[in-house]
Amino acid sequence: MEPFVSPELSVYVEDYLLSHRNPWNLKLHHFAVPTFLVSGLALLSFITLADPLHHPVFKIDVALIAEMGLGVFWFRLAGKFGLLALLFYGFLSGWVRLLPLQIILSLTVLAYVLQVIGHAAIERRQVSRVGGIACLSFGALFHFLRSTKIIALSCTFFALLQTGCTPKKLQPEFSPFQGQRAYQDVETYTQFGPKVSGTDNHKKVADWIVTSLKSSGATVIEHTASATTFTQKKIPIRNLIAQFNPDHKKRILLSAHYDSRDIADEDKKRKNEPILAANDGGSGVGMLLEFARSVQPQTLPYGLDLIFWDAEDLGRPGDPYSYCLGSQAFAKNPKPAGYKAAWGINFDMVGRKGTVFGIEKFSEAYAPDLIKRIWDAAKAVGANSIFGSHRFGPVVDDPVFITKGLGIPMVNLIAMGPDGKFPPEWHTHDDTMKVISKDVLQALGDTVLHVLKNEPN
Ligand SMILES: [Zn+2]
Repeated sequence: MEPFVSPELSVYVEDYLLSHRNPWNLKLHHFAVPTFLVSGLALLSFITLADPLHHPVFKIDVALIAEMGLGVFWFRLAGKFGLLALLFYGFLSGWVRLLPLQIILSLTVLAYVLQVIGHAAIERRQVSRVGGIACLSFGALFHFLRSTKIIALSCTFFALLQTGCTPKKLQPEFSPFQGQRAYQDVETYTQFGPKVSGTDNHKKVADWIVTSLKSSGATVIEHTASATTFTQKKIPIRNLIAQFNPDHKKRILLSAHYDSRDIADEDKKRKNEPILAANDGGSGVGMLLEFARSVQPQTLPYGLDLIFWDAEDLGRPGDPYSYCLGSQAFAKNPKPAGYKAAWGINFDMVGRKGTVFGIEKFSEAYAPDLIKRIWDAAKAVGANSIFGSHRFGPVVDDPVFITKGLGIPMVNLIAMGPDGKFPPEWHTHDDTMKVISKDVLQALGDTVLHVLKNEPN
Protein backbone atom coordinates (compact mmCIF):
# COMPACT_ATOMS: atom_id res chain seq x y z
CA MET A 1 0.00 0.00 0.00
CA GLU A 2 1.21 3.47 -0.81
CA PRO A 3 1.58 6.04 1.94
CA PHE A 4 -1.37 8.35 2.17
CA VAL A 5 0.69 11.50 1.90
CA SER A 6 3.98 11.68 0.08
CA PRO A 7 7.16 13.00 1.70
CA GLU A 8 7.42 15.31 -1.31
CA LEU A 9 4.40 17.21 -0.06
CA SER A 10 6.09 18.35 3.13
CA VAL A 11 9.25 19.23 1.19
CA TYR A 12 7.05 21.18 -1.18
CA VAL A 13 5.41 23.11 1.64
CA GLU A 14 8.78 23.93 3.18
CA ASP A 15 10.12 24.99 -0.18
CA TYR A 16 7.25 27.37 -0.49
CA LEU A 17 7.78 28.89 2.90
CA LEU A 18 11.45 29.44 2.19
CA SER A 19 11.02 30.60 -1.38
CA HIS A 20 11.45 34.19 -2.47
CA ARG A 21 7.93 34.24 -3.82
CA ASN A 22 6.50 34.22 -0.32
CA PRO A 23 5.34 37.87 -0.37
CA TRP A 24 5.28 38.49 3.40
CA ASN A 25 8.34 36.41 4.12
CA LEU A 26 6.33 34.17 6.43
CA LYS A 27 8.11 31.25 8.02
CA LEU A 28 6.49 28.11 9.36
CA HIS A 29 7.06 29.18 12.98
CA HIS A 30 5.06 32.38 12.39
CA PHE A 31 2.05 30.12 12.11
CA ALA A 32 3.18 27.33 14.33
CA VAL A 33 4.00 29.06 17.62
CA PRO A 34 0.78 31.05 18.14
CA THR A 35 -1.42 28.34 16.72
CA PHE A 36 0.25 25.73 18.89
CA LEU A 37 -0.61 27.77 21.98
CA VAL A 38 -4.22 28.26 20.92
CA SER A 39 -4.49 24.63 19.88
CA GLY A 40 -3.21 23.59 23.29
CA LEU A 41 -5.84 25.73 24.94
CA ALA A 42 -8.49 24.25 22.73
CA LEU A 43 -7.36 20.71 23.46
CA LEU A 44 -7.30 21.41 27.18
CA SER A 45 -10.81 22.76 27.01
CA PHE A 46 -12.01 19.64 25.24
CA ILE A 47 -10.40 17.37 27.78
CA THR A 48 -11.44 19.26 30.90
CA LEU A 49 -14.82 20.13 29.45
CA ALA A 50 -14.17 23.68 30.58
CA ASP A 51 -15.84 26.07 28.27
CA PRO A 52 -13.64 29.03 27.28
CA LEU A 53 -14.35 28.31 23.63
CA HIS A 54 -18.03 28.83 24.06
CA HIS A 55 -17.78 32.43 25.04
CA PRO A 56 -20.38 34.06 22.79
CA VAL A 57 -17.92 36.51 21.19
CA PHE A 58 -14.79 34.39 20.82
CA LYS A 59 -16.38 31.01 20.28
CA ILE A 60 -16.11 30.85 16.51
CA ASP A 61 -12.83 32.64 16.10
CA VAL A 62 -10.96 30.65 18.70
CA ALA A 63 -12.28 27.39 17.38
CA LEU A 64 -11.30 28.37 13.86
CA ILE A 65 -7.79 29.33 14.90
CA ALA A 66 -7.41 26.14 16.91
CA GLU A 67 -8.40 24.02 13.98
CA MET A 68 -6.15 26.01 11.67
CA GLY A 69 -3.28 25.31 14.05
CA LEU A 70 -3.94 21.62 13.84
CA GLY A 71 -4.16 22.01 10.08
CA VAL A 72 -0.69 23.53 9.99
CA PHE A 73 0.67 20.71 12.08
CA TRP A 74 -1.01 18.25 9.82
CA PHE A 75 1.05 19.70 6.98
CA ARG A 76 4.19 19.78 9.08
CA LEU A 77 3.75 16.12 9.86
CA ALA A 78 2.42 15.11 6.49
CA GLY A 79 5.59 13.45 5.26
CA LYS A 80 6.25 10.98 8.04
CA PHE A 81 3.40 10.98 10.51
CA GLY A 82 0.67 12.45 8.36
CA LEU A 83 -1.58 9.44 8.62
CA LEU A 84 -1.21 9.21 12.40
CA ALA A 85 -1.96 12.91 12.72
CA LEU A 86 -5.02 12.52 10.56
CA LEU A 87 -6.32 9.58 12.54
CA PHE A 88 -5.63 11.26 15.85
CA TYR A 89 -7.42 14.41 14.85
CA GLY A 90 -10.20 12.38 13.31
CA PHE A 91 -10.75 10.44 16.54
CA LEU A 92 -10.48 13.58 18.63
CA SER A 93 -13.00 15.41 16.51
CA GLY A 94 -15.19 12.37 16.44
CA TRP A 95 -15.12 12.01 20.18
CA VAL A 96 -16.10 15.63 20.57
CA ARG A 97 -18.57 15.75 17.73
CA LEU A 98 -19.70 12.16 17.51
CA LEU A 99 -18.88 11.98 13.82
CA PRO A 100 -15.77 9.78 13.80
CA LEU A 101 -16.35 7.79 10.66
CA GLN A 102 -17.33 10.71 8.52
CA ILE A 103 -14.36 12.74 9.59
CA ILE A 104 -11.80 9.99 9.15
CA LEU A 105 -13.23 9.23 5.76
CA SER A 106 -13.19 12.88 4.73
CA LEU A 107 -9.62 13.34 5.84
CA THR A 108 -8.50 10.19 4.10
CA VAL A 109 -10.06 11.31 0.85
CA LEU A 110 -8.49 14.72 1.32
CA ALA A 111 -5.10 13.12 1.93
CA TYR A 112 -5.31 11.35 -1.38
CA VAL A 113 -6.41 14.51 -3.17
CA LEU A 114 -3.55 16.49 -1.69
CA GLN A 115 -1.08 13.79 -2.56
CA VAL A 116 -2.14 13.82 -6.19
CA ILE A 117 -2.08 17.61 -6.35
CA GLY A 118 1.24 17.71 -4.52
CA HIS A 119 2.84 15.44 -7.11
CA ALA A 120 1.31 17.41 -9.95
CA ALA A 121 2.45 20.68 -8.45
CA ILE A 122 6.02 19.50 -8.12
CA GLU A 123 6.16 18.60 -11.76
CA ARG A 124 4.28 21.44 -13.42
CA ARG A 125 3.51 24.93 -12.36
CA GLN A 126 0.36 25.33 -14.43
CA VAL A 127 -1.21 22.29 -12.83
CA SER A 128 -0.49 23.80 -9.45
CA ARG A 129 -2.69 26.76 -10.34
CA VAL A 130 -5.48 24.40 -11.32
CA GLY A 131 -4.78 22.37 -8.21
CA GLY A 132 -5.01 25.46 -6.06
CA ILE A 133 -8.38 26.40 -7.45
CA ALA A 134 -9.61 22.81 -7.11
CA CYS A 135 -8.43 22.71 -3.53
CA LEU A 136 -10.08 26.01 -2.71
CA SER A 137 -13.38 24.81 -4.18
CA PHE A 138 -13.06 21.58 -2.24
CA GLY A 139 -12.51 23.56 0.94
CA ALA A 140 -15.45 25.84 0.30
CA LEU A 141 -17.69 22.86 -0.41
CA PHE A 142 -16.75 21.16 2.84
CA HIS A 143 -17.16 24.38 4.72
CA PHE A 144 -20.70 24.77 3.44
CA LEU A 145 -21.45 21.18 4.25
CA ARG A 146 -20.03 21.87 7.70
CA SER A 147 -18.48 18.48 7.71
CA THR A 148 -15.54 19.88 9.57
CA LYS A 149 -13.70 23.16 9.55
CA ILE A 150 -10.30 21.55 9.53
CA ILE A 151 -10.88 20.40 5.99
CA ALA A 152 -12.03 23.80 4.88
CA LEU A 153 -9.10 25.53 6.48
CA SER A 154 -6.52 23.00 5.40
CA CYS A 155 -7.79 23.25 1.87
CA THR A 156 -7.74 27.03 1.94
CA PHE A 157 -4.25 27.08 3.39
CA PHE A 158 -3.02 24.60 0.84
CA ALA A 159 -4.73 26.49 -1.95
CA LEU A 160 -2.79 29.62 -0.98
CA LEU A 161 0.43 27.63 -1.10
CA GLN A 162 -0.50 26.18 -4.44
CA THR A 163 -1.29 29.42 -6.17
CA GLY A 164 1.74 31.27 -4.85
CA CYS A 165 4.34 28.57 -5.20
CA THR A 166 6.96 28.01 -7.85
CA PRO A 167 7.80 24.35 -7.93
CA LYS A 168 11.55 23.96 -8.04
CA LYS A 169 12.02 20.80 -10.00
CA LEU A 170 11.37 21.96 -13.54
CA GLN A 171 12.97 20.24 -16.49
CA PRO A 172 14.07 22.90 -18.98
CA GLU A 173 12.71 22.32 -22.46
CA PHE A 174 13.39 24.09 -25.75
CA SER A 175 11.99 23.65 -29.22
CA PRO A 176 14.76 22.40 -31.50
CA PHE A 177 17.18 25.11 -32.61
CA GLN A 178 16.73 25.72 -36.32
CA GLY A 179 19.96 26.85 -37.97
CA GLN A 180 18.02 27.67 -41.12
CA ARG A 181 15.93 30.30 -39.33
CA ALA A 182 19.00 31.80 -37.67
CA TYR A 183 20.61 31.94 -41.12
CA GLN A 184 17.57 33.78 -42.49
CA ASP A 185 17.87 36.32 -39.69
CA VAL A 186 21.52 36.93 -40.58
CA GLU A 187 20.40 37.48 -44.16
CA THR A 188 17.69 39.95 -43.13
CA TYR A 189 20.26 41.71 -40.95
CA THR A 190 22.61 42.22 -43.89
CA GLN A 191 19.73 43.48 -46.06
CA PHE A 192 19.41 46.52 -43.80
CA GLY A 193 22.80 47.65 -45.15
CA PRO A 194 25.43 49.01 -42.74
CA LYS A 195 24.05 49.50 -39.21
CA VAL A 196 26.38 51.99 -37.63
CA SER A 197 25.21 53.16 -34.18
CA GLY A 198 23.29 56.42 -34.37
CA THR A 199 22.23 56.02 -38.03
CA ASP A 200 18.84 55.42 -39.55
CA ASN A 201 19.64 51.84 -40.60
CA HIS A 202 20.73 51.11 -37.08
CA LYS A 203 17.41 52.31 -35.71
CA LYS A 204 15.57 50.15 -38.25
CA VAL A 205 17.52 47.02 -37.36
CA ALA A 206 16.96 47.64 -33.64
CA ASP A 207 13.21 47.99 -34.23
CA TRP A 208 13.21 44.79 -36.28
CA ILE A 209 15.00 42.90 -33.48
CA VAL A 210 12.53 44.20 -30.89
CA THR A 211 9.55 43.15 -33.04
CA SER A 212 10.98 39.68 -33.54
CA LEU A 213 11.70 39.26 -29.82
CA LYS A 214 8.21 40.37 -28.86
CA SER A 215 6.66 37.91 -31.26
CA SER A 216 8.68 35.20 -29.52
CA GLY A 217 7.00 36.15 -26.26
CA ALA A 218 9.91 37.99 -24.63
CA THR A 219 9.54 40.97 -22.34
CA VAL A 220 11.68 43.57 -24.07
CA ILE A 221 13.27 46.49 -22.27
CA GLU A 222 15.77 48.98 -23.59
CA HIS A 223 18.80 50.38 -21.88
CA THR A 224 19.62 53.82 -23.18
CA ALA A 225 22.62 56.05 -22.56
CA SER A 226 24.90 58.31 -24.53
CA ALA A 227 28.53 57.78 -25.40
CA THR A 228 31.42 59.52 -27.09
CA THR A 229 33.16 57.66 -29.88
CA PHE A 230 36.86 57.56 -30.68
CA THR A 231 36.20 60.32 -33.23
CA GLN A 232 34.62 62.47 -30.47
CA LYS A 233 31.14 62.02 -31.85
CA LYS A 234 28.28 61.89 -29.35
CA ILE A 235 25.97 58.95 -30.07
CA PRO A 236 22.91 57.52 -28.35
CA ILE A 237 23.30 53.99 -26.96
CA ARG A 238 20.41 51.57 -27.25
CA ASN A 239 21.03 48.14 -25.72
CA LEU A 240 18.11 45.74 -26.24
CA ILE A 241 17.20 43.30 -23.48
CA ALA A 242 14.80 40.41 -24.02
CA GLN A 243 13.74 38.74 -20.80
CA PHE A 244 12.07 35.40 -20.26
CA ASN A 245 10.74 34.81 -16.73
CA PRO A 246 11.65 38.37 -15.73
CA ASP A 247 10.62 37.81 -12.10
CA HIS A 248 13.00 34.93 -11.58
CA LYS A 249 15.93 35.77 -9.35
CA LYS A 250 18.39 33.38 -10.94
CA ARG A 251 19.29 34.61 -14.44
CA ILE A 252 21.32 33.38 -17.36
CA LEU A 253 22.63 35.78 -19.99
CA LEU A 254 23.24 35.25 -23.70
CA SER A 255 24.53 38.26 -25.59
CA ALA A 256 25.82 39.58 -28.90
CA HIS A 257 26.44 42.99 -30.43
CA TYR A 258 24.02 44.13 -33.12
CA ASP A 259 25.69 47.27 -34.43
CA SER A 260 28.08 47.10 -37.39
CA ARG A 261 31.46 48.71 -37.93
CA ASP A 262 31.62 52.22 -39.39
CA ILE A 263 34.77 51.61 -41.45
CA ALA A 264 36.45 48.79 -43.38
CA ASP A 265 39.93 49.42 -42.03
CA GLU A 266 41.13 45.88 -42.77
CA ASP A 267 40.10 46.11 -46.42
CA LYS A 268 42.25 47.19 -49.31
CA LYS A 269 39.56 49.26 -50.93
CA ARG A 270 36.82 51.61 -49.69
CA LYS A 271 38.47 51.65 -46.27
CA ASN A 272 36.34 54.53 -44.99
CA GLU A 273 33.00 52.97 -45.85
CA PRO A 274 30.92 50.95 -43.37
CA ILE A 275 30.60 47.16 -43.71
CA LEU A 276 27.59 44.83 -43.93
CA ALA A 277 28.89 42.68 -41.05
CA ALA A 278 27.07 39.43 -41.75
CA ASN A 279 29.41 37.59 -39.40
CA ASP A 280 30.65 40.46 -37.20
CA GLY A 281 27.18 41.46 -35.97
CA GLY A 282 24.65 39.43 -37.94
CA SER A 283 25.65 35.95 -36.78
CA GLY A 284 25.24 36.80 -33.09
CA VAL A 285 21.88 38.46 -33.78
CA GLY A 286 20.67 35.38 -35.69
CA MET A 287 21.70 33.10 -32.83
CA LEU A 288 19.91 35.14 -30.17
CA LEU A 289 16.71 35.57 -32.22
CA GLU A 290 16.54 31.81 -32.75
CA PHE A 291 17.16 31.16 -29.03
CA ALA A 292 14.22 33.46 -28.35
CA ARG A 293 12.02 31.33 -30.61
CA SER A 294 13.09 28.03 -29.09
CA VAL A 295 12.76 28.91 -25.43
CA GLN A 296 9.81 27.53 -23.46
CA PRO A 297 9.98 29.82 -20.44
CA GLN A 298 7.41 27.98 -18.34
CA THR A 299 9.73 24.97 -18.20
CA LEU A 300 12.79 26.92 -17.03
CA PRO A 301 13.82 26.99 -13.38
CA TYR A 302 15.63 30.27 -14.14
CA GLY A 303 15.17 33.49 -16.07
CA LEU A 304 16.86 33.90 -19.45
CA ASP A 305 18.08 37.25 -20.79
CA LEU A 306 19.18 37.93 -24.34
CA ILE A 307 21.08 41.20 -24.55
CA PHE A 308 21.91 42.87 -27.84
CA TRP A 309 24.82 45.26 -27.29
CA ASP A 310 25.00 48.53 -29.15
CA ALA A 311 28.14 50.36 -30.32
CA GLU A 312 30.56 47.47 -29.98
CA ASP A 313 32.44 48.10 -33.17
CA LEU A 314 33.15 51.84 -33.38
CA GLY A 315 36.60 51.53 -31.83
CA ARG A 316 40.04 52.01 -33.27
CA PRO A 317 42.96 49.62 -32.90
CA GLY A 318 45.18 50.44 -29.96
CA ASP A 319 42.37 51.89 -27.81
CA PRO A 320 40.36 49.02 -26.27
CA TYR A 321 38.00 51.40 -24.47
CA SER A 322 36.85 52.87 -27.77
CA TYR A 323 35.10 49.55 -28.48
CA CYS A 324 32.12 48.08 -26.61
CA LEU A 325 30.50 51.42 -25.72
CA GLY A 326 27.11 49.76 -25.20
CA SER A 327 28.30 47.13 -22.75
CA GLN A 328 30.51 49.67 -20.97
CA ALA A 329 27.47 51.90 -20.41
CA PHE A 330 25.46 48.91 -19.24
CA ALA A 331 28.16 47.80 -16.81
CA LYS A 332 28.21 51.28 -15.23
CA ASN A 333 24.47 51.60 -14.87
CA PRO A 334 22.68 48.35 -15.70
CA LYS A 335 19.00 47.85 -16.41
CA PRO A 336 17.19 46.41 -14.56
CA ALA A 337 19.11 48.19 -11.76
CA GLY A 338 21.44 45.85 -9.93
CA TYR A 339 21.37 43.38 -12.80
CA LYS A 340 23.11 40.11 -12.06
CA ALA A 341 23.27 36.76 -13.82
CA ALA A 342 24.71 33.42 -12.77
CA TRP A 343 26.73 33.25 -15.97
CA GLY A 344 26.69 34.32 -19.59
CA ILE A 345 27.84 33.48 -23.10
CA ASN A 346 28.63 36.10 -25.73
CA PHE A 347 28.45 35.38 -29.46
CA ASP A 348 30.68 37.42 -31.75
CA MET A 349 31.55 36.28 -35.28
CA VAL A 350 30.11 32.83 -34.74
CA GLY A 351 28.56 31.92 -38.10
CA ARG A 352 31.51 31.52 -40.42
CA LYS A 353 32.05 28.40 -42.54
CA GLY A 354 34.76 26.25 -41.03
CA THR A 355 34.83 28.05 -37.67
CA VAL A 356 36.61 26.20 -34.89
CA PHE A 357 36.12 27.92 -31.54
CA GLY A 358 39.10 28.07 -29.26
CA ILE A 359 39.43 29.13 -25.65
CA GLU A 360 39.62 32.87 -25.16
CA LYS A 361 41.91 33.76 -22.28
CA PHE A 362 39.66 36.20 -20.38
CA SER A 363 36.89 33.60 -20.49
CA GLU A 364 39.30 30.96 -19.26
CA ALA A 365 40.34 33.16 -16.36
CA TYR A 366 36.80 34.07 -15.26
CA ALA A 367 34.59 31.15 -16.32
CA PRO A 368 36.65 27.95 -16.63
CA ASP A 369 33.76 25.74 -15.44
CA LEU A 370 31.45 27.16 -18.08
CA ILE A 371 34.03 26.54 -20.80
CA LYS A 372 34.13 22.90 -19.74
CA ARG A 373 30.35 22.70 -19.80
CA ILE A 374 30.14 24.16 -23.31
CA TRP A 375 32.87 21.91 -24.71
CA ASP A 376 31.31 18.84 -23.02
CA ALA A 377 27.90 19.80 -24.42
CA ALA A 378 29.38 20.00 -27.92
CA LYS A 379 30.59 16.43 -27.54
CA ALA A 380 27.20 15.33 -26.27
CA VAL A 381 25.32 16.77 -29.25
CA GLY A 382 27.93 15.77 -31.85
CA ALA A 383 29.09 19.32 -32.51
CA ASN A 384 32.71 18.85 -31.49
CA SER A 385 33.97 19.62 -34.99
CA ILE A 386 33.39 23.35 -34.30
CA PHE A 387 35.20 23.28 -30.94
CA GLY A 388 38.97 23.06 -30.76
CA SER A 389 41.51 23.32 -27.98
CA HIS A 390 43.68 26.28 -29.03
CA ARG A 391 43.99 29.24 -26.67
CA PHE A 392 44.01 32.81 -27.87
CA GLY A 393 43.68 36.42 -26.80
CA PRO A 394 42.79 37.82 -24.39
CA VAL A 395 40.29 39.70 -26.56
CA VAL A 396 38.74 42.89 -25.18
CA ASP A 397 35.07 42.51 -26.04
CA ASP A 398 31.66 43.07 -24.43
CA PRO A 399 31.86 40.17 -21.94
CA VAL A 400 35.03 41.57 -20.37
CA PHE A 401 33.22 44.75 -19.30
CA ILE A 402 30.25 42.77 -18.03
CA THR A 403 32.43 40.34 -16.09
CA LYS A 404 34.55 43.10 -14.57
CA GLY A 405 31.74 45.59 -14.00
CA LEU A 406 28.95 43.32 -12.83
CA GLY A 407 30.79 40.20 -11.67
CA ILE A 408 29.04 37.93 -14.17
CA PRO A 409 31.36 35.15 -15.39
CA MET A 410 31.12 35.01 -19.18
CA VAL A 411 32.53 32.96 -22.00
CA ASN A 412 33.19 34.74 -25.26
CA LEU A 413 32.68 32.57 -28.32
CA ILE A 414 34.56 34.45 -31.00
CA ALA A 415 36.28 33.21 -34.12
CA MET A 416 40.01 33.63 -33.64
CA GLY A 417 42.37 31.00 -34.93
CA PRO A 418 45.45 29.41 -33.35
CA ASP A 419 47.49 32.06 -35.21
CA GLY A 420 45.77 34.78 -33.13
CA LYS A 421 44.01 36.17 -36.21
CA PHE A 422 40.37 36.84 -36.92
CA PRO A 423 38.96 35.43 -40.17
CA PRO A 424 40.22 37.08 -43.40
CA GLU A 425 36.92 38.93 -44.09
CA TRP A 426 37.00 40.57 -40.64
CA HIS A 427 36.38 44.33 -40.86
CA THR A 428 36.30 44.19 -44.66
CA HIS A 429 33.61 44.41 -47.31
CA ASP A 430 33.82 40.63 -47.70
CA ASP A 431 31.95 40.07 -44.43
CA THR A 432 28.78 39.09 -46.28
CA MET A 433 26.38 36.14 -46.46
CA LYS A 434 28.99 34.31 -48.56
CA VAL A 435 30.96 33.44 -45.43
CA ILE A 436 27.98 32.33 -43.33
CA SER A 437 27.19 28.65 -42.76
CA LYS A 438 23.88 27.49 -41.37
CA ASP A 439 25.54 24.25 -40.25
CA VAL A 440 27.86 26.16 -37.93
CA LEU A 441 24.89 28.14 -36.54
CA GLN A 442 23.03 24.87 -36.06
CA ALA A 443 25.90 23.10 -34.28
CA LEU A 444 26.45 26.07 -32.00
CA GLY A 445 22.72 26.38 -31.25
CA ASP A 446 22.46 22.69 -30.37
CA THR A 447 25.46 22.99 -28.08
CA VAL A 448 24.21 26.02 -26.17
CA LEU A 449 20.70 24.59 -25.78
CA HIS A 450 22.27 21.46 -24.31
CA VAL A 451 24.04 23.62 -21.73
CA LEU A 452 20.81 25.49 -20.93
CA LYS A 453 18.84 22.25 -20.59
CA ASN A 454 21.35 20.83 -18.16
CA GLU A 455 21.69 23.86 -15.92
CA PRO A 456 21.71 22.45 -12.36
CA ASN A 457 18.58 23.32 -10.40
ZN1 LIG B 1 34.14 43.79 -35.23
